[in-house]
Amino acid sequence: MRVFKFGGASVKDADGVKNVLRVLQTVGFDDVLLVISAMGKTTNALELVIKNYFEQSAELPDAIAAVKEYHFGILNGLFDNENHEVFSMLNSMFADLEYFLKTNKSPNYNFVYDQIVSFGELISTTIVSHYFDFCGIKNNWLDVRNFIKTDTTYRDAVVNWELTQENISKNVQKNVLNITQGFLGSDENNFTTTLGREGSDYTAAIFAYCINAESVTIWKDVPGVMNADPRYFQNAALLNQISYREAIELAFYGATVIHPKTLQPLQRKEIPLYVKSFVNPELPGTSVSKGADLEPHLPCFIVKKEQLLISLSSLDFSFIVEENISEIFSLLHQYKMKVSLIQNSAISFSVCIEDKFGNFGDLKNVLQKKFKVAYNQNVSLYTIRHFNENASKIVEENKEILLKQISRETMQIVTK
Ligand code: ADP
Ligand code: ASP
Ligand code: MG
Repeated sequence: MRVFKFGGASVKDADGVKNVLRVLQTVGFDDVLLVISAMGKTTNALELVIKNYFEQSAELPDAIAAVKEYHFGILNGLFDNENHEVFSMLNSMFADLEYFLKTNKSPNYNFVYDQIVSFGELISTTIVSHYFDFCGIKNNWLDVRNFIKTDTTYRDAVVNWELTQENISKNVQKNVLNITQGFLGSDENNFTTTLGREGSDYTAAIFAYCINAESVTIWKDVPGVMNADPRYFQNAALLNQISYREAIELAFYGATVIHPKTLQPLQRKEIPLYVKSFVNPELPGTSVSKGADLEPHLPCFIVKKEQLLISLSSLDFSFIVEENISEIFSLLHQYKMKVSLIQNSAISFSVCIEDKFGNFGDLKNVLQKKFKVAYNQNVSLYTIRHFNENASKIVEENKEILLKQISRETMQIVTK
């Protein structure tokens, strides 16, 4: 079985959904598991619903209406008859969403977040599945929450591999077209959980691992993995073949074309990953597989925006050594900060982090009790894998550099 993943960009409108069908017809779909994300920017739109809900804002109904109108617009582009059952199914899903908000008693933001954002994937897969049926393409709609079991870390759930493996082995039908949701799972009480933003690639890898898939293909709006994000770097070039290790490094440093958690399960079973264009499905794209000889021979540029650079120094001029560092790391972990760079000297320690969950204010208060805390918000972190002189010049030009670090293969620069 092959696993395909289509992200938000691929199903952002009715033409996108039609194109997914065209891609499947080009590459075959007899024995395929299709993982689909929420349409376009739906997850962001649902985040706004949640924000309005918690702030008890008068804008809440408008925020819900926007999500609803967007999806009904897509339905109208796919089905000419509003009596099709998918219209009433969507209406009842939105009624469920509103009912949840009306009756919810939980003050837990992360819990509520998962119960609401999950509608994005549930709705998108319902639309795609019915559209395929309508076009005569039989398929099996699966509720991923019956397969991927997790702990209760809402918004960043950890997969229970044993239960997940059992569910998938027992209940995923082979030799058919299966359609399921990316990004979602469920906990032991069957409440919905999510695997972290952009987590649908990871969902594809989880299924691939558990069914021993032949391959995974993630279909993108770019030709494959390139040596830079083409949005920010002119002349980005396609990497035809890279190793799992290189892909993990690129994803870890912030090449958003692949979610970093995707590679490890695939690498463990040596399942090849293809990153291909949904615009030109006949092109080979990038293949990610085993092998040290597959390293790119050109510098790869990665930029992460909206990072935080924190520098801590001791209040009493004492050294920042093992015990302080271990305390600092345990706090970073506790406040769910993602660390992408570390540098230390005798009495200071700098760290470049991403504050995904908006916890910096609280963390700062704790840190200030023990350290002098200096910080820059909204900095950019540039990473160059396989750097050379010319590559570093390109990145450094016209920028104020706050920190620079060089290892054998990788150069990192934090800029304002
Ligand atoms: P999805 O629709 O699957 O969620 P994303 O938008 O998350 O897709 O990922 C595709 C985007 O990743 C591309 O449009 C591109 O701007 C960005 N990107 C970042 N780094 C790279 C890279 N090294 N190669 C290709 N694309 C990249
Ligand atoms: N819809 C989710 C998000 O936007 C998951 C994904 O797209 O991968 O984060
Ligand atoms: Mg995405």
